[in-house]
Order: sequence, then structure tokens, then C-alpha cells
Amino acid sequence: STKDPESLLTGLNPQQREAVLHSGSPLLIVAGAGSGKTRVLTHRIAYLLATGRARPGEILAITFTNKAAGEMRERVESLVGPAARMMWVSTFHSACVRILRKEASTLGLRTTFSIYDAADSQRLMTMVCRELELDPKKYPPKALSSRISALKDELVDPETFGRESGASAGTANDFDAVLAQAYTRYQDRLRAAHALDFDDLIMTTVHLLQAFPAVAEHYRRRFRHVLVDEYQDTNHAQYTLVRELAGHDPAMDTDETDDSPVPDAVGPGELTVVGDADQSIYAFRGATIRNILEFEADYPSARTILLEQNYRSTQTILSAANAVISRNPGRRPKRLWTDSGAGAQIVGYVADNEHEEARFVAEEIDRLADSDGVRPGDVAIFYRANAQARALEEVLIRVGLPYKVVGGTRFYERKEIKDAVAYLRAVDNPDDDVNLRRILNVPKRGLGDRSEAMVAAFADRERISFGAALDRVDEVPGLATRSLNGLRSFAQMMTDLRDLAAKGGGPAEVLGAVLDRSGYLSELRASDDPQDASRVENLAELHAVATEFEQSDPEADLADFLERISLVADSDQIPSADDADGAPKVDQGVVTLMTLHTAKGLEFPVVFLTGLEDGTFPHMRTLADTEQLAEERRLAYVGLTRARQRLYISRAAVRTSWGVPNEFPPSRFLDDLPDDLLDWRRRESSMATLRSGLGYGSGFGGSVYGSGTPRTGAPSTRVPPSPPSPTFGSAKSRPTGDAPSLSVGDRVTHDTYGLGTVVVVEGSGPNAVAKIDFGTEGTKRLLLRYSPVTKL
Ligand code: ATP
Ligand code: MG
Repeated sequence: STKDPESLLTGLNPQQREAVLHSGSPLLIVAGAGSGKTRVLTHRIAYLLATGRARPGEILAITFTNKAAGEMRERVESLVGPAARMMWVSTFHSACVRILRKEASTLGLRTTFSIYDAADSQRLMTMVCRELELDPKKYPPKALSSRISALKDELVDPETFGRESGASAGTANDFDAVLAQAYTRYQDRLRAAHALDFDDLIMTTVHLLQAFPAVAEHYRRRFRHVLVDEYQDTNHAQYTLVRELAGHDPAMDTDETDDSPVPDAVGPGELTVVGDADQSIYAFRGATIRNILEFEADYPSARTILLEQNYRSTQTILSAANAVISRNPGRRPKRLWTDSGAGAQIVGYVADNEHEEARFVAEEIDRLADSDGVRPGDVAIFYRANAQARALEEVLIRVGLPYKVVGGTRFYERKEIKDAVAYLRAVDNPDDDVNLRRILNVPKRGLGDRSEAMVAAFADRERISFGAALDRVDEVPGLATRSLNGLRSFAQMMTDLRDLAAKGGGPAEVLGAVLDRSGYLSELRASDDPQDASRVENLAELHAVATEFEQSDPEADLADFLERISLVADSDQIPSADDADGAPKVDQGVVTLMTLHTAKGLEFPVVFLTGLEDGTFPHMRTLADTEQLAEERRLAYVGLTRARQRLYISRAAVRTSWGVPNEFPPSRFLDDLPDDLLDWRRRESSMATLRSGLGYGSGFGGSVYGSGTPRTGAPSTRVPPSPPSPTFGSAKSRPTGDAPSLSVGDRVTHDTYGLGTVVVVEGSGPNAVAKIDFGTEGTKRLLLRYSPVTKL
């Protein structure tokens, strides 16, 4: 059922058509967002098949996610029919797995080799460190793991690293010497287990192709067409893999330094790569824009095609995106245009805090449904960090808008949140065996399955709970001294935490103690895995939930808090519209929540880009680094260009993390948006109005911006730059001296509730709680230490 090839060309513009028709040399398509790069790849494949220039088995197409691969296969199938199923359309990782499974014997691997995911490989690394008796404080397993991962991205194997770092010769610095040793041992252990970790999949395939020319030739003969989407995000290992599979550029073979005696037995396949240097957002994982910028140098015979017409967005959205990205230094300027008209203005909104921001988003989605028939499935909400999803999720749950969180687990299903909640439950209920056993060895404290089984057996015999058995651990027979000590100190920690709760420690305080004493937080902080950084942020978010809960009801204790959490967590289980059973209804789809990173390559009619604050987006840890800021700006470009018709941008003047409300200045990216593109529904927060009227500055202490150079071009209505707590980590050391001492009758302002009068004061110092009448906002009980209250 092959289509008429000509029909595959209709509807393409001249450059796109040229890209589809091109043959005979490597092809690079560079173009801005929404210019049809992915569409050209799809049509090119379909055209190759329809004209008989290629058979499906000769095609290898690489996409960035499995989802994208599935969509591309479907698209090609709809264009040329079921023969398309023979093509390889996959991610780098799954293509490598397929090759390795077939060639396992060549490498002395079992065809059934296991693939270790991040958690598995982390566990293995911890074992290796223990075997090598490394001090985990000096050499955290996570730090070693992520260095090894980076080495693998660069195709540096243990021997090479030993040589290059000087470790083999004994001249390396301490860390590198240890790293070399751990890397070698780690690879030995993987091999003994017939396992490969994620990064090995690519590195091993490259080594396979380089070490066995016959194997390489087999694949070059097979894949006459290699096509790569999102080429700007390939790292060195992936780049090399593509080169090995597609063959070297024949133009390079005249190079006199090339000492390969025989030319490739088969000519090079046709390589097509498409990408956009402005959308490179994985440099932190070793991706290098160099691969795209220097493609022409690597493949001298390559043809480069530029696409300039954008088919996705309105001119307004495009102009905004262009304005933001054009500030990046050293980029090749691009002129994207569209003939789809100006479209609606971008709607801007300044919320007082993240809850109000979420409320604005939800109300707006509702309004669009009424006025424009926008369905939930047309809408995406983006944020920089996973932790920001919670406030959004809570509002969407409350108003009953169906949603899904892509590329992330719903907040209360995340491992770190479940772990923390398990601790709280075990503190609250000493006989909660399930939760107690969940956390017994989390974080790892050498209490393995064997010790756990012995305590459990003892509990069975004595007919007591596991928790009660822990309190009598000295009576448990057969425990090794090390385990016994470990169990004792675990039991002691739990007793201390329970004492804290019994003495009136609120949920936030107990949670803080749990995270500190268990070592959970310090383990995450010691890691340089970006995922762990987001776990820390999520825990900070949970702490914020606890703090708010305390503020709303200072009498409430740990049990009340746990009850409230289980309610929210349960409503998490409500099936979304597309999996609800019952009578079929018109599929309205669900609102999509995702981080900006996962949004790459996608498009939505309506996009909400939230959290546009300096310190949120751009992310706090990038503010001091030009390179990283440039990557944040590219991420902003990716975000803005996902929108087809309507774009909303919002920020919260105050965002709470680790229980501390912090005032954030507007994102610098907002400065770059031309005024006429924007319709500000609300320009500043009510606290800013209040503050400028009263003529005082930020109520929060300690500024990370204080010493920074002022940014230019800031509108005069801007709130003075002021201080987010730089990281979750430092929040604990936040001076608490700024809790105002209040008496009945005092007039105060609160950043959210506005003007109020103190009605009752209870307690003093850090535990002072005040009941304050905020007029129409109601009367609130506030834990002053955490409340943005200023005495007038
Ligand atoms: P990104 O950089 O975000 O990955 P892209 O360059 O891959 O974007 P596509 O996703 O391929 O762009 O295309 C963007 C949108 O424009 C899609 O909806 C696509 O169907 C549409 N499109 C592309 N080319 C044309 C065309 N010639 N005529 C009509 N629509 C087109
Ligand atoms: Mg694309």
C-alpha cells in the first residue's frame, strides 16, 4: 500500500522538500523550533520507502524519547503502510540494546545480560565502596557514580582513565586515584554479574563497532540510512556511535594521517541529522552543541539546509521566543517567521504566591473552556523543577480538572516523599511495621535483609510488633555485633524522634529532625546527581506543606498532619478522565504538567509557563555561571516555542521552600519580552503595592542578590531584588530573630493577607503564635517564625 511518492512532497515548503529529496551526502538540517524538522525526518523516511530508494530494514531513526519514537513510527506507517514496522525507530539506548543482544557473544556477554538502572548501579557502587573500604564522607558513592557516568559519556574506559589521570603511574590526585580504582572494580563487578549500566549501553556498542570491523561493516551494510532527531543533545559517545554506524565521510579518507589500510568495504550510509543549537538543554549531561556547530567540519561533503518558516506558533509567540534567545552570546542568528498572523497577546500574571499562581492557571483553563472550547488535553503547564508541581496539582485536584504529570511521578508517589512519610508514620505509630521496615535501611545503614529477618523472627516468637522487637534488640539471638549496634542506634533514633513529637514538636519540626538524624538529607546533598538535587527540592516542598499546615492550625499534631496527607495522597489515585471507566464520554484529554526539559519536541495549543522568577527559572544554581545561564535561556526558548496559539507566563512574588517563604525577583527573561506582546492581567503582587506605598524593603533577612550588580532595564514598579534562600540547605540556618515580637492590638502587614490587627499572642521566641484579624481575609493563627508578618 505504498503511497504515491509525489503526494509526500505536497504541502512542504521548498527547503523542506529539498531536505526530503536530498541524496548522496550527509545532510544537516538546522532550524529553529517548530520549523518542521521532525516532520521533514518523517517525510524523508516515508519518501525513501515510497520511492524504493530504501527498504524498511535499512533505516535507523533515532529520537530522544521512546514516546517520540512511537509517534514517528506511527506517522511513517500512516504515510506508507505497515511495511514501516521493519524500520528501527528508537532511542540511542534501545538501539544499542538491540545491537548488543545480537552481538553479545562477540563481547563474551550473555545474550540475556541485565541492564542496571540508576538505582541498581547505585547499589552496586555502594558495595564496591564498601569492599574498597572507602570513607563514604570523603568519597560518596553517588559522587563516584556520577563521575563514572560522565567518563562513559566521553568513552573513557577504566584503563584509559587510569592512564590519563596518572592513577596508573601513581601521580593522580587522591580523588582521581580512588576514582580509577572504584571505576575498575565497578566494571569488574558489572561484568561478573553479566550486567551493563545505562551508560555502558552506548560505550560498549561503540567499543564493539570499533574493535570488530566485521561487525561494524555488517551494520553499515544494513543501515543505509541513519537519521537523528534532536541532534543538538547528543553527547560524545552518541556522536561517535552515529559516526561508526553511518560510516566516515568519504571526503575525510583523503586525509594523509588516516592510517587505515583498507577503505570501508561498503560506502558510507546516508546520514541525516536535524537539530537546533538554540534548543540544546542537556549540556549538564555531557551533550555538546559542538556536534551540531562542527558537523560541517566533521563531514566536509555535508549539505546544510536551513528552515526558516515556523508552522507552529503565532507571530506573537515567536517574537517573544526570538527576543529571549537573541540575548545569548555566540549564537548564529536565525530569522524565524510565520504567516499565521499575530494571534493573541501573551498573558502575564504576577501572583502573590505559588498557590495563587496555581489558582490563576486553573481559573484561566476553566475560562478558556467556556469561551473558546479549549479542552483540558489542549493545555500544558510547564515548570522548571519538579517540586513546583505540587502547588499546581493541589489546585487541579481541588477544582476537579483532570491532569497527568509527565516524566515525573505524582508528588506523593515519589520515593523520597514516601520514605519521609514512612518515617513520620513510624514515629507516630511505633507498631507500624510496614513503614518501619521500609525505612530500616533507608538511607543505607548496614541493616540488611538478614538482620531484618532475625528481628522479624524474634517478633514473631514473642508475639510483639517489629517495632517492639527493635526496642528489645539486645535479646534477639544471633545478630552480628555490627548489626546489633546499627539496630540499637536506629531504635534510639526512633525513640528520640517520638520524644520530640510527644513534647509537642509540630509536624514540620519532626520532619526536619527525621531528615537530619536519619542522614537522608545529607546523603542526597552529598550527591552530585541532578536527580538528587530535585529530591532535596521535593523534600523541601514537603516541609513547606508541613509548615503551612502548622500555620493554619498551630494546635494540630503529627497525627493530624498524616491524616491530611493521606487524604491528598488518596485523591491522587482518582483516575484521570482518560482511564475512568463507565460510559464512554467525549475524550476531553487531560491537562499535561511537565518540566521544561521533558517538553522538548512537543507542542500544545495552550501553554502556561510558570515560576518565572530569578532563582526559580533561571534556576538558583545557574545564576552565577554564564554558561549555565545560557542553557537556562535555551530552556526558556524551548518552553516558549511549545505554544501554538496561546501563551501564559506567570510568576509568584513569594514562593515557599523548606517552610520559608522567600521573595523572588522577576525572572530576567521577562525583561527581554517586548512590552507590546504582553497583556499583564496583574502586574505586581499586592504585597509589592503595599510595600512601595509604605516605603520599606524586604522583610526577609540575608540577601544573595545584595552584592550582585543591579540589572538594567528593570521597570520602576519592580520589587527591590531580595532574597530567596539560596538552597534548601541553608534554610535551617536562616536567622529566626526576625520573628517580630507582637502584642495584642498591634497593627501588622502580612505579605499575603495584607493589613491586620493582632488579637491574641501565645508563646514566645521561636514558638510564638499570633492570632491576627485580617479583615476580609479572615482571622489567621500564624507561627510567627515562619510568617511574613511585619509590625507597623
Ligand atoms: P522542534 O524544534 O520544537 O522539535 P520541529 O522543527 O521539529 O520543532 P515539527 O514538530 O516538525 O517542528 O513541526 C511543527 C509543527 O508545524 C507541526 O505541527 C507540523 O505538523 C507543522 N508543520 C511543519 N511543516 C509544515 C508544513 N510545510 N505545512 C504545514 N504544517 C507544517
Ligand atoms: Mg522536532
